[in-house]
Amino acid sequence: MKQLNFVIENATGLHARPAKVFVKTAKKFKSDIRIAHGSKKVNAKSLIAVLGLGVKHGGSVQVELDGEDEDLAAEALETAVSTGLGEDDAAHKPAPQPVAANGVAKTAVPKAPKDGLAGIGAAPGLAIGPVFQLKQTAVQLTDAFAGVAAEQNRLYEALAAGKEALHELRRQLEAHAPEEAAIFEVHQELLTDEDLLESVQQKIQGQQNAEQAWRATIEERAAMMAALDDSLLAARAADIRDVGNRVLKLLTGASNEVAWPDHPVVVIAHDLTPSDTATLDPQKVLGFATAVGGPTAHSAIIARALSLPAVVSVGDGLLELGDGTAVILNGSSGIIQINPDAAAQEKAKNDLAAAKKQQQAAREQAHEPAITLDNHRIEIAANIGGAADAVKANASGAEGVGLLRTEFLFLDRATPPSEDEQFEVYRQIAEAMDGKPVIIRTLDIGGDKPLPYVQVPPEDNPFLGERGIRLCLNRPELLREQLRAILRAASYGSLRIMFPMVADMSEWRAAKAMVDEIRAELNAPELPVGIMIEIPAAALLADVFAKEVDFFSIGTNDLTQYTLAMDRMHPTLAGKSDGLHPAVLRLIDATVKGAHAAGKWVGVCGELGADPQATPILLGLGVDELSVSVPSIAMVKAKVRSLTRTEAQKLAAQALACATAQEVRNLVV
Ligand code: PEP
Ligand code: MG
Repeated sequence: MKQLNFVIENATGLHARPAKVFVKTAKKFKSDIRIAHGSKKVNAKSLIAVLGLGVKHGGSVQVELDGEDEDLAAEALETAVSTGLGEDDAAHKPAPQPVAANGVAKTAVPKAPKDGLAGIGAAPGLAIGPVFQLKQTAVQLTDAFAGVAAEQNRLYEALAAGKEALHELRRQLEAHAPEEAAIFEVHQELLTDEDLLESVQQKIQGQQNAEQAWRATIEERAAMMAALDDSLLAARAADIRDVGNRVLKLLTGASNEVAWPDHPVVVIAHDLTPSDTATLDPQKVLGFATAVGGPTAHSAIIARALSLPAVVSVGDGLLELGDGTAVILNGSSGIIQINPDAAAQEKAKNDLAAAKKQQQAAREQAHEPAITLDNHRIEIAANIGGAADAVKANASGAEGVGLLRTEFLFLDRATPPSEDEQFEVYRQIAEAMDGKPVIIRTLDIGGDKPLPYVQVPPEDNPFLGERGIRLCLNRPELLREQLRAILRAASYGSLRIMFPMVADMSEWRAAKAMVDEIRAELNAPELPVGIMIEIPAAALLADVFAKEVDFFSIGTNDLTQYTLAMDRMHPTLAGKSDGLHPAVLRLIDATVKGAHAAGKWVGVCGELGADPQATPILLGLGVDELSVSVPSIAMVKAKVRSLTRTEAQKLAAQALACATAQEVRNLVV
């Protein structure tokens, strides 16, 4: 018998995907594996049971393993937990909060207008049209019992068909939203859940037919999950019911057919399951609203991925709207206007047409430079995580890579990638970018991104601990290998090196000395070397750093977190942690002034770079490059083209004098 203790570091705890990876890992072994949290102890091979523990971020669990392969199982679980349980950097963060037009995350339901309803904006955009209510038809069950063996067979056949259908659904969604498609992998996993199936079997043994046994078990499990005081787990109850219904329909032959009107509609429903949402036909559906549901539910996540405007949690008043009622649904503000007058309809139609036209025009001009109306050019680059992203970035109009997050090469594995392996990736990226500049950020781990093969003693505040360049300088062999790989790949394109989390000059000098030494050893070409500005200390010392570094790139995600002392992954504070806070802007201003005085350039590679309200301010502060996610490139370029630098400079000066982030946002329409 073996025992392990873990702290679950995933931002949303042991929720769907991390729990799935944990259970999948446990299932690979014969040993009996139990997981305990608080007063509950459950089978670690049952996804529903593990989800039902309700383990939150920072929660501790004890795992007991008993069996011939317990050592191997313990090792595998340790690696799985320490490598983030299948969540990469982006996914480790809490699910995005819906963002209102002013960029401030909102979770409260706004006040309903006189002639309308209000809910939580879950996916941005406008939908204008008649409503159509999607009703869940209750599946009718009979008492017919064909015998235990026959009922078991019926169950297995329905489960197999359900898995097949989920596989297909996942494949379809993958083309638009690969991240979100993984939700259906969780659904597939639920269909093999040991505890769930055991409970169904027992009921069949007790003379219930397959559909009765299945429905009763699903209801028990979903009710148990919904009763936990946790909005994320309540959303998982919807997943269980969704999977349950799918199999129930297969068992009873109930039809899935909906009699859709012959014109596009705004769907309203009590709730939509993830499968309902993923299968909505964009030709028929303009957007949707639900009476219940939260912005972190999978259906809301899918709606965002499919660019389908959505409002959730509107309340039962929504379902009183008769089919055909005209509405304007605003997925950003959460407001639904009912029977809008001709002027309101006209305005909404114009806004929608203008937004579509803007997106189309932006895409058409994605490969043109971003030059302001008064002829000032600003470079728009891409933030990427690997070679496949580089190909997409180049095809989407990126003028370079402003940030390659190399940690993705190091995550989810038991040993670090070799120098040759790294060299191959850097070479591919350099080549994919056709000679455009590529900034390779050296390994930025620690904090929220631990690695199993880099042992850091437990820290009370990992974000204030050994992370980024601090960690690499303490493990020079790791940095050396990476620098060798980058310098070897340098002749295949235009590479630049950037160090993360630099706080003082001694760190920069030590890291730069390693570059110089390795460059000499390899006889490699000289290449620009810069630092990220993401610690306030570095921003305040920018003029000092600028004498030695070749460039700066401002990591506004961390710079905001450290300036405002708000954890960037905090489930409730993250929304308030706004990079347009005047204190952050003053640090950006200091960085640009320090850099430009020494003839050096400054980029911004944090999320702020893609915020349309931030673009004029960053331009006005004198930032030379914005590095943004690949899908944002075209729109950011278009935004720059609509501005003048002179106006932007005036706006930036006003922003620097503001007292709050909201005041800054109010300046920008
Ligand atoms: C940042 O901190 O803004 C940044 C770009 O780095 P990361 O998000 O990878 O920490
Ligand atoms: Mg950072």
